[in-house]
Amino acid sequence: MSVQLRCVGTGDAFGSGGRLHSCYHLQTDKMQLLLDCGCSSIAGLHGCGIKPDEIDLIVVSHLHGDHFGGIPFLFLEAKYVSRRSRPLTLVGPPGLQQQIEATLESLYPGAIGKGVDFPVHYRQLEPETGLQFGDLKLTCRPVVHGSSPHVFGLRVEIAERVISYSGDTEWTDELLELAAGSDLFIAECFSYGPETPSHLDYQTLLKKRQLLDCRRLVLTHLGEALLERLEELELEVLKDGDLLRL
Ligand SMILES: [Zn+2]
Repeated sequence: MSVQLRCVGTGDAFGSGGRLHSCYHLQTDKMQLLLDCGCSSIAGLHGCGIKPDEIDLIVVSHLHGDHFGGIPFLFLEAKYVSRRSRPLTLVGPPGLQQQIEATLESLYPGAIGKGVDFPVHYRQLEPETGLQFGDLKLTCRPVVHGSSPHVFGLRVEIAERVISYSGDTEWTDELLELAAGSDLFIAECFSYGPETPSHLDYQTLLKKRQLLDCRRLVLTHLGEALLERLEELELEVLKDGDLLRL
């Protein structure tokens, strides 16, 4: 069984380079899931030919809009367009459900009324024990991004593949553990040098590359200044719409 990764959104919070907010679609024969679902994800999914109502699971790394803000739009689409009936599981840091419900109510007051017409299951990320969804094992590591203590890097083991994802973070040695033995490590890389707090940068990742025990390292979440230097980068960079077969 193979795993397919579609890079729905590889941009930063500011939409630099016209790239969409963070959203990675993983598909096997048995399930479809998203790693993060930023505000622009509903448009990105349609643009990639992915049906939002076929997604079984969404995992959110942290509660910033460019990583979870698309979920309210998926709810709207599910209720008014695709009339979804299959269950959806949402996994994230503490407060995910409240944030989604508050955002939805703020953007579309009363639109969901008595709720959606499909089962929604919320689960909290478990750094100690991990979570299991059928054949999929989900683990996470705490990373460092701003003041919130609930910011995570994610690791998915499915169909004998390991995909790890930094979420948003400055450098922390937790990333070494997160990436260890991965087939693919998706690392955010906002800037060229370490001048931006709370984010990874190209020079640091280049320096740490030998320590990262992953088969393939790909960069994402690039800011404007780094996008302007794309030509000179030695490390692989993702862009919206990229399809990776693992
Ligand atoms: Zn971000």
